[in-house]
Amino acid sequence: MNVLIVNAGSSSLKYQLIEMEDESVLAKGNVERIGIEDPILKHQATGKDEVEIPEDIKNHTQAMKLVIDTLIHPEYGVINSMDEIAAVGHRVLHGGAKIFESVIVDEKVKNVIRENFELGPLHNPANLMGIEACEEVMPNTPMVAVFDTAFHQTMPAEAYTYAIPYEDYKKYSIRRYGFHGTSHRYVSKRLFKLLNRPAEGTKVVTCHLGNGSSIAAVKDGKCIDTSMGLTPLEGLPMGSRCGSIDPAIVTCLMEKKNLSPEEMSIYMNKKSGVLGVSGISSDFRDLEAAAEEGNERAKLALDMFSYSVKKYIGAYAAAMGGLDYIVFTAGIGENTPLIREHACKGLEYLGVKIDRKKNDKITSGCGVEGEISAKDSRVGIYVIPTNEELMIARDTVELLNLL
Ligand code: AMP
Repeated sequence: MNVLIVNAGSSSLKYQLIEMEDESVLAKGNVERIGIEDPILKHQATGKDEVEIPEDIKNHTQAMKLVIDTLIHPEYGVINSMDEIAAVGHRVLHGGAKIFESVIVDEKVKNVIRENFELGPLHNPANLMGIEACEEVMPNTPMVAVFDTAFHQTMPAEAYTYAIPYEDYKKYSIRRYGFHGTSHRYVSKRLFKLLNRPAEGTKVVTCHLGNGSSIAAVKDGKCIDTSMGLTPLEGLPMGSRCGSIDPAIVTCLMEKKNLSPEEMSIYMNKKSGVLGVSGISSDFRDLEAAAEEGNERAKLALDMFSYSVKKYIGAYAAAMGGLDYIVFTAGIGENTPLIREHACKGLEYLGVKIDRKKNDKITSGCGVEGEISAKDSRVGIYVIPTNEELMIARDTVELLNLL
């Protein structure tokens, strides 16, 4: 059985076709610059060279048609007809407080995605466009929506409520939602599989450290707190996002620099984080190289980041009443031993002790999973490459089986 995974952005449409018997990726690609200048489809069938197909693609429906045509193309294709796609799994950002799990797409689900346009203005409208494009091109194929916020919906009120007047939470739905939920769920499930044990009785901190970073406290397999909030801006400092700062800084800078709300949002989302602090790059590889050459601001940016990861691990150990496992994932978590080492340093009192040799072995580009804790570490420390697409595909099959 083949499942197509779709992640639609405002001018892009990423896809993966997964064969579910052995969970192998048959092909993947991305339609870029939809409706703008020089649209192009970059497509790669597994084991073959990437092909680039420039075409006049005005909207997501045309993009989806091109994706299907390419998947069944005699030369670049990997299937014979559209009928070989059993279902489509869509990545959707925001399900608000109504969606707790993955769901079959129907009018009600589409309405929930619409209701949350305001909370996910960059993603939800695009995600819905992706769903509607697929419905047009493949009207008889079941669709599943997998929400980035869903895994975090088990948080208790004390974790998701902000200390603002309660009526404004009710009126504007301003609360913590959390993001990267599919990734946190995937790596925690994978951890229990690796350990061959049930989720019950475990206290896990999952660290999704990438260009966007978030941390989750996962108790008995359920999320009880997470670092991102109403939007993906809260929490750790990130590539170019400031993460948590004193809220008074916002009004102070708006006044001093005469910034509009939109300009301030760009400042916090695109100009801050490790990019803003280092003045060099949002990419941790560049920062590591610069720090090695003695650049103090690059070193400060890296130190700030790992210090912040450490604080969240400690905070979530407190929230869960203990800590059994730490999992590192995503671009930085999977590839950067230095950050993992510094984030764990000083947590020995919690029973956290990294094995330097094992940690240094899981480095840039090796894409492997493994344990990196020392023999005498009470807490198990793991690197587990995330696979959100596979999680979406598995959910899709599970729901398909219920139809
Ligand atoms: P992500 O958002 O999960 O794709 O993570 C991207 C970030 O991971 C980049 O900004 C880099 O700072 C960091 N990174 C470090 N090493 C690698 C690597 N070998 N491949 C990809 N990303 C890396």
